[in-house]
Amino acid sequence: MRNPHAGEPFVASDEDIETALLDVSIPTLMLCLVHLTGDPSILRGHLKPAGLFLNEVQGYMSEEDKAEIRQLALGIIAGYRDSGCLEPTPLAPEVIHEMMSWLVCEEVPTEYVAMLMEEMGLDGTDARRPPSTESAGVRSEFPVVVIGCGESGLLAGIRLKEAGIPFTILEKNDGVGGTWWENTYPGARVDVGNHFYCYSFEPSDAWTEYFAQQPELQAYFERVMDKHDVRPHVHFGHEVVSASWSDTEGRWLVVARDRNGINVEFSARAVITAVGQLNRPNIPEIPGHETFAGPSFHSAQWDHDVDLEGRRVAMIGAGASGFQIAPTIAPTVAHLSVFQRTAQWMFPNPNYHETVGPGVRWALRHLPFYGRWYRFLILWPGCDVGLHAARVDPAYPDQERAVSETNEVTRQIFTDWIMSQIGDDNDLAAKVIPDYPPTGKRTLQDNGSWLTALTRPNVELVRTGIDHIEPDAIVTTDGVRHEADVLVYATGFHANRVLWPIEITGRDGVVLSKMWGERPAALLGMTVPGFPNFFCMYGPGTNLAHGGSLIFHSECQMRYIGRCIAHLIEGGHESMEPTLSAYQDWHERSQAELKTLVWSQPSVKHSFFKNSHGEIHVLSPWRLVDYWSWTQEPDLNDFIVTTPTPGANR
Ligand code: NAP
Repeated sequence: MRNPHAGEPFVASDEDIETALLDVSIPTLMLCLVHLTGDPSILRGHLKPAGLFLNEVQGYMSEEDKAEIRQLALGIIAGYRDSGCLEPTPLAPEVIHEMMSWLVCEEVPTEYVAMLMEEMGLDGTDARRPPSTESAGVRSEFPVVVIGCGESGLLAGIRLKEAGIPFTILEKNDGVGGTWWENTYPGARVDVGNHFYCYSFEPSDAWTEYFAQQPELQAYFERVMDKHDVRPHVHFGHEVVSASWSDTEGRWLVVARDRNGINVEFSARAVITAVGQLNRPNIPEIPGHETFAGPSFHSAQWDHDVDLEGRRVAMIGAGASGFQIAPTIAPTVAHLSVFQRTAQWMFPNPNYHETVGPGVRWALRHLPFYGRWYRFLILWPGCDVGLHAARVDPAYPDQERAVSETNEVTRQIFTDWIMSQIGDDNDLAAKVIPDYPPTGKRTLQDNGSWLTALTRPNVELVRTGIDHIEPDAIVTTDGVRHEADVLVYATGFHANRVLWPIEITGRDGVVLSKMWGERPAALLGMTVPGFPNFFCMYGPGTNLAHGGSLIFHSECQMRYIGRCIAHLIEGGHESMEPTLSAYQDWHERSQAELKTLVWSQPSVKHSFFKNSHGEIHVLSPWRLVDYWSWTQEPDLNDFIVTTPTPGANR
């Protein structure tokens, strides 16, 4: 069978190829040429990228160099076509390592190579796919319930299906996608490049934008769900209200409320929670909020029946969601008042709203391994570099401004980006330049649309605090009334209330939310003592603020969970749960590590990363490569594994 990443054969004319090559990433194209010729020597000459920056995919190459490569490529690609687009011979591992380093203009450390090889799957295999070991009969005795059918729940379903394990997914919404189902607000789009923000084993050559909008993302998950035939396993419109472990039965009882408000019970040997961290809207109780006379709604519950055209809109909150909403609605509303408590740092990304040209889509579909190398090209700049930049240097003098010299350089780049857009408007500069170190909160992607919106005559950025809400206005603490017909809360989510409001009861009647309080924790973000056969995806300590993608993390987690379940099935075990000491050790180490990073800085006063004590429990402080390596296999020394007494019927 042809390697799925070797591209579909084609018969395009020379002219068509030439046109397509005008669009493509030239450094990525060079690596396709190595695959096509089997000869890496073209990388060793003068043609090479000059530098790397996230989402800059041309390596700062000169126009002359790019033209030279296109010319070279045309001949090689035409030759490949004329000889029938035969699958290229696999390259030696050391050549691939050389190609990695060449593409990103730095030596890719050896410790990363295995992870990257797996992520790219150049050999056409899916190394994270679980083996199906025991007989179907044995596996059928181990039903699993997955809670949630967003990107992680769908992934869990795909992997369980591949392993031949019976499973049911319970999803509160009426469709797949989680966040990408719920967030239909104007302008909703992903801010991790889509050619990386997709499952490693389900790349798409059809993205129409580099950072796709919500409908396209939701459609992607829909397509993947159907391709893997997961839909028959999903109960949509079923919101899980509780899950409780029975020691006598060695099973979980999961209760879900269906669309008619009727509770339905499911029995399982294991539960996987895949509910995300950002889906329970936070609507602050601002005095008078209930008196507002016009329509009001949260960004994640957008009311599309409300026509904003010609109306005065007040938007409270401007983090990641508000940042996308304001520029999208500003041209149609009569007036927009944006109430922003804390200014946001933003990362310059000129491609943020760019469409994927036909040449790039042709290359993704037809040029051997183009898509794989492109994935690597946008993955690498967000692979642990951000963690280094987030590290606090305690000796750095002005911690309110920057936490290290590297962080100061970042501050300069971000500030220059802002100032390049607003010229000498010092009043606006005072409002939009944050007063805390860069990357201290989630950094937003920006192509200039935010500041363009703010400088429109019908848009006002309000940085004064809100005092109260009246039927037709938001009143700020300076007594100014900001009149509004419609109120949008872009105020984020209850990110720190992990798994809330599901009531999860483990061994001895312990309720997880009570045990956690404001300090949720799980070994590797996945398992909790006293909660046997209970696995979290995107659990505590796994949100990423330093790069990577949550899909990458989910794939690591699901491999680990799959191995745990395989261990239970193969060993005929009843349950596994982490030891208290492994759990505590993990939590203490994670906390110690988090305290060394910019997100914990006291100068970051408001951040959904922090709980009410100013502590962080939702983020991962770890390098992707470490998390990847720690989640290869469960270390059984970290677990208490029980086996049923002979004759027990499970
Ligand atoms: P968010 O980033 O937490 O922003 C919430 C906004 O509401 C902030 O401006 C916050 O101010 C403000 N706010 C909250 N409570 C307030 C109060 N009591 N009074 C005044 N202002 C208040 O929430 P979000 O924009 O929904 O984004 C949440 C997360 O979702 C993001 O960080 C990201 O992980 C994800 N997301 C991703 C994308 C994407 O991929 N493009 C898009 C949207 C969301 P403070 O800053 O002062 O707290």
